[in-house]
Amino acid sequence: MHRILGIDLGGTKSAALVATDDGMVLGRVAAPTPASGDSLELFDFLSELAREALNESPGPIAGCGVSAGAPTDSSKGMVFAAPNLPGWGNDGFPLAERLGDALGRIPVRVENDADATAMAEHRYGAGRGTRTMAFLTIGTGVGSGLILDGRLHRGKIGAGGEIGHIAVDFENGRPCPCGLTGCLEAYASGHSVLRVARERGYVGPADGVSLANAARNGDPHARFAFDQAAEMLGRGLATMTMLLNPERIVLGTLAVHAGDLLLDRIRDTVAQNTWNRLGEGLEIVPAALGDRAQDLAAICAWQRPGAP
Ligand SMILES: [Zn+2]
Repeated sequence: MHRILGIDLGGTKSAALVATDDGMVLGRVAAPTPASGDSLELFDFLSELAREALNESPGPIAGCGVSAGAPTDSSKGMVFAAPNLPGWGNDGFPLAERLGDALGRIPVRVENDADATAMAEHRYGAGRGTRTMAFLTIGTGVGSGLILDGRLHRGKIGAGGEIGHIAVDFENGRPCPCGLTGCLEAYASGHSVLRVARERGYVGPADGVSLANAARNGDPHARFAFDQAAEMLGRGLATMTMLLNPERIVLGTLAVHAGDLLLDRIRDTVAQNTWNRLGEGLEIVPAALGDRAQDLAAICAWQRPGAP
C-alpha cells in the first residue's frame, strides 16, 4: 500500500496530511495560512507544515498532491495569484519543483482545488462509478471540474470546465467578480445569493444558514434569491448537459446545506431545457464527501483519475 502526502492550501487555513492510497488519513496537521502575500513566506510555511505531517506519520511516501485555492498549471507544477492568495504573483510560482526539492525529492503535483475536489467526488464520493461527471462547488464563488471519460478535462491552458462563468443572462447580466457580466456565479454563489436577497430587502444575518432558514420560513427576499440561483444553475447546467451529455452532476456546498431550496428547481430547469434523451438518465445530486472533501482533494491531486 502506498502512502501519499496531501496538502490543502486555502486562503485562510491550510493542512498537510499523510494518507493511504485508498483515502484513509493517517495523520494531519493544520495551521492558519500566512496573510502577508509573500511567496517565500508562504512556501516556507507549506514546507514546514508538510514536514510536521511527515514527522507525525514517518515512512516512505509515493508522492505529494497539493490542492490549491488558486489557479494552477498542473503540467508545469505552477501556482498563480488568487484574490485570497496573492503571494504567488501573476507570473506564478513553481511550487511542485520547489516543494519536491525541499522535502527530499518527493514528486509533487499541484491542482486547482475545484478540479481536485471534482476528482475526489469522482473517486470517493457522489461521482463514484461514472465515466462522465460534472462537479460544481457553490461556495464563495462557483468552482467546477469536469471528468470526461474518466479523466479531468483541462483544456488548452488548464482552465477548461469553468461552468460557473457560463453566461446565463445576456440581457441584464449582473457583474461577476471575474470581470464578465451575466455569469452563473453572479447569481448562484453564496455571496451572490446574499447580495440579491439584500438588494430585495432581506435584513437578517449575513451567514448562509440564517439566509436559508429565512427562505424556508417564508422570507420573500431570501426565497427570491434562492429561486433565482436555482433557475440560473438550471440554465447553466442545461447548456453544459447539451454539450457534454454527463451521467451525473454533483453539486457541493450550498447545494448540500440548502438542497431543499435548490435541487428540485435545478432539476426542473435542466429537464425543460435539454432533450429528453439527455435529461432522463441524468442524475443531479449533492456532493457526498462533506468535511473529508478537502483532504481527499489533496490526495487526488496526486492520484488523478485514470491513474492506478
Ligand atoms: Zn464570471
